[in-house]
Amino acid sequence: MFNLTLTFDNGPDRDTTPGVLDLLAREHIRSTFFVLGDKIRERHGRQLAARAAAESHWIGNHTMHHKVPLGEAPQPTAAALEEIDGTQVLLGDLSHHDHLFRPFGRGGAIGPHLLSRAALERLTAGAYTIVLWNSIPRDWAEPDSWVETALEHCRSQPWTLMVLHDLPTGAMRHLARFIDLARAAGAQFRQNFPPECVPLLRGKPMRALDAFVNSNGGQHG
Ligand SMILES: [Zn+2]
Repeated sequence: MFNLTLTFDNGPDRDTTPGVLDLLAREHIRSTFFVLGDKIRERHGRQLAARAAAESHWIGNHTMHHKVPLGEAPQPTAAALEEIDGTQVLLGDLSHHDHLFRPFGRGGAIGPHLLSRAALERLTAGAYTIVLWNSIPRDWAEPDSWVETALEHCRSQPWTLMVLHDLPTGAMRHLARFIDLARAAGAQFRQNFPPECVPLLRGKPMRALDAFVNSNGGQHG
C-alpha cells in the first residue's frame, strides 16, 4: 500500500485537459491542476480550470509564463510580482484558499533556482503555500514509457506527490493504464500533499527554505 497524490502542471490544454478530467471523474480521483496564467487568460483555459474546480479538483498557481525560474530572473522583484501575484489575480476565485503555488523547476529539479528572495517575500506576504513534489516521471519527455517510471516512484516511498502534465504530448493516453496499475499495486489516491513537499504553508515556513532560494539574486531587483 502507498499513498499517491496526482498533480497536473502547465495546462489547461484544450485538447488534453477534458479527457484527463473525464478519466479522473470516472475513477473518483481528485487532484490539483497547477495552471499557467498565460493559459487561463484564454477563455477556453479559464473554462477548463473552472470545470476542474467545479469537479472538486484544486487549482494552483504555476506562474504566468513558465520560462525563467524565479531564482534566475534578471529582475527578481518584477518577475515575482508578475509571475506569482499576476497569475493569482487571473486565478481569482478559482484558486484554492491556501493559495497553492508551485515554482517552475525547469525539468523538475529542486534547488536554489526555484525562488529569489523577492519571490519568497511575495509568497510569505501573500500567505501562499509552496507545493513541491517528490516524483517527476518525465511524462513530457517519455510519453510512452513514463508509466513504468511512475510506478517505480510509487513503490519506493510511502507517499508520492507526482507531477504529470495535461499537455498534448501523448503521455495522457497512458493515464488510465497508469491508474489501473497503481491501484493494482496498492495505491490509495489522496488529494492533499505529503508535508515534506510543503515547505511554506499559508505564508508560514514549515522548515528552512534556503535550499530553494537563490541568495545571490535580487540585488538588481
Ligand atoms: Zn511546469
